[in-house]
Amino acid sequence: MAVHHALRLRLDSRALTHNWLWLQRTAGVPAGAAVKADGYGLGAVEVTRLLGDAGCRDFFVSTWAEADALGPLPNGCELVVLHGIGPQDLEAALASHARPVLNSREQVTRWKEAAPGRACDVMVDTGMNRLGLRTEELDQLDGLEIHTLHSHLACADEDSAMNAVQLGRFAAVATTVPARRYALANSAGICLGRDYSFGLVRPGLALYGGVPREEAEGHIAQVAYPEAEVVQRRTIKAGETCGYGATWTAAADTEAAIINIGYADGYLRCFAGKGSASIDGKLLPLIGRVSMDLVALDASALPDLAEGDWVTLDYDLPAAADASGLSQYELLTGLSERLERRWT
Ligand SMILES: *Cc1c(COP(=O)(O)O)cnc(C)c1O
Repeated sequence: MAVHHALRLRLDSRALTHNWLWLQRTAGVPAGAAVKADGYGLGAVEVTRLLGDAGCRDFFVSTWAEADALGPLPNGCELVVLHGIGPQDLEAALASHARPVLNSREQVTRWKEAAPGRACDVMVDTGMNRLGLRTEELDQLDGLEIHTLHSHLACADEDSAMNAVQLGRFAAVATTVPARRYALANSAGICLGRDYSFGLVRPGLALYGGVPREEAEGHIAQVAYPEAEVVQRRTIKAGETCGYGATWTAAADTEAAIINIGYADGYLRCFAGKGSASIDGKLLPLIGRVSMDLVALDASALPDLAEGDWVTLDYDLPAAADASGLSQYELLTGLSERLERRWT
């Protein structure tokens, strides 16, 4: 029996590939793909397969559990675990083909003891102060077989003086620490110019339709489209209210479509008064509050919209972030399992 899903995330595989190609062309060096958090909520297995077909060779997850869930990668692809190896990770790391990114003296010592001579990646901190060895700790790296040496930008999505400072620090490190390859830029970092490219870039957000800086506007295509089924259509009479808290009152008789999505799906309450759906260019504004599993839309613009029809929520990431106050990252990674992922 095929169960019917009443909400889904339509995913545009051509847009995903297009975005990856644009990022790689812009960087002028190979582009990998951050597929942590299940490919930013889109599905890491599918994303990896599609980008692998497009020519992407380097994939990044956060943890060994994510590496395990991803399973075998397409031929010729390499997997990197960004959080490195904690005290509990050695068994998984040694059994895996993935390389850890060593982030601390503890992790370096652990790797040297457990896997002498085996290639690893290393994160150097150049100002983020989150993960990575401090620049004065780099003597710890002697004797390691470093595949890719990384650092990570703290403010690449802003015009911050910090960007050039981090670039300068990383360029200096790259001249003293031998590695096969060096990598600094995330999606926003790619937009800062080719000085930031080194030998590899690590985009995430922009692959999935996020626009991290204005340089990417017009080049990045939307990938993820939440779609929900109409559960019922009803007329709300003038003076009546709709939804929890009775926060919305009909000024005139209003045709409403109640659709199958809510905050439990990651369509959060901050969309109240701000969100909308569109069909064939017709706008259906959200009315009242967002419930756990339901949202009401003003369907006046579509007299024929009926139970069982589908609507596409407006989810262009920059616009939806402005409307909701959520980050483009949260808008993607917060979408629940209840949305059936459907690639086209
Ligand atoms: C998540 C992550 C990225 C990708 O960042 P985006 O801003 O999504 O492009 C790159 N590098 C590291 C170390 C990361 O953790």
